[in-house]
Amino acid sequence: MFIAYDSDRKLHSIWRQSLVDVGHLKAKRFTCIYCGKDMQLRTGEKRAPHFAHITTCVRRPYSESYEHITAKELLSYWLVLHGFKPELEKRIGEHRADVFVEIDNIPYVLEIQKSHITEKEFLERHLFYEQYGYKVKWFGIRIKGTSKTSIRSLTIREALMIDPLAGFTSLAIDVTNQELLIDHHFTSMQPQKMIHLSTAFSLDSSPRQFFDKAVLEKPDALYFLVIKKEWLRLVRSKRKLIHTRLNKLEKILLRTYQSLHKNLNFFPAICHLPILHQADLLIRPELWQSFIVIHVINKKPIGAHVNVSQVSLALESVISADCVLPISVSWHDRLFYLINEYLQAISYFGVVKKVNANTYKITCHVTVNKPIDTLINDDDYVMSAYQKYFETKNN
Ligand SMILES: [Zn+2]
Repeated sequence: MFIAYDSDRKLHSIWRQSLVDVGHLKAKRFTCIYCGKDMQLRTGEKRAPHFAHITTCVRRPYSESYEHITAKELLSYWLVLHGFKPELEKRIGEHRADVFVEIDNIPYVLEIQKSHITEKEFLERHLFYEQYGYKVKWFGIRIKGTSKTSIRSLTIREALMIDPLAGFTSLAIDVTNQELLIDHHFTSMQPQKMIHLSTAFSLDSSPRQFFDKAVLEKPDALYFLVIKKEWLRLVRSKRKLIHTRLNKLEKILLRTYQSLHKNLNFFPAICHLPILHQADLLIRPELWQSFIVIHVINKKPIGAHVNVSQVSLALESVISADCVLPISVSWHDRLFYLINEYLQAISYFGVVKKVNANTYKITCHVTVNKPIDTLINDDDYVMSAYQKYFETKNN
């Protein structure tokens, strides 16, 4: 281990320190952060300086992976470096917080993502800490290093770690590069397969800023290029999809398309837009977006108003609870936010016009009955037009 308490219960970290750096600690006595038993500072030739137990540790969570322990120790090291006093494995009620720390009188619980924990356990734990007034921050673990723009599949638990109260960001520790990461600008064209940006912070970055007002990198050309490539690849394959099992929303839409002698692959091009934060819906974008266009907007006369709450209620009535992430904060709010984003996006194409914060006026109906080659042309048109909008909006 790289961290231990001294006899004054001061936490020392010797992460990445050399023999010279730790020289002044040689006379000190150390105890284990987990069990409180004696530890020795070892400064051999072969291994980097580290603390070792004299007898076996009875409390160190051996079930945790090497990466997990490293991540935890890195976090403590970072906090100690900036003058804070982290406590590891702090008992809070029936739970043990990976790292507890107080920053400006705010009690933080820092939890590192555990692979064996279920979504239910995750939420229980999260709510438990929140209920007792702790600010909970979850950290994922990145092992293979990180590029600025990533496209990857997220587990439901990872998707749950995206914090809407922190601007839809999630945190991670890159144990290879020893950096902290904030992932942001999440979008997806397929449930749970996310495209996002990562901003890296060295351990020299202040925890205060990191948790509170970290400056994140802006999307660059590569981010938009990755989205466009994925968008094009998916829209092409969705135009040829064979649907073997249908969910409720698909059944509703199929009825509409069949009345026009079409199938689900004939969704309008503007019903397949990448919207930030659609991570919350476990439904493909072309389904929920088509529903809004065909079953809400097209059903109202031109000039009529729609407001976000109405659309949200209409959509909620056709999706089941398992189409939405099981989130603690009201998912109505998140759906509201998502729909508002979408209505703004299609106002760019002149379908609706924003009247006030949450109200839009219908300015034209969207043609649904189009042959496939026209739709494929539309896809290309929408993609290049929307890219400009998306870049401006998210930059
Ligand atoms: Zn121990």
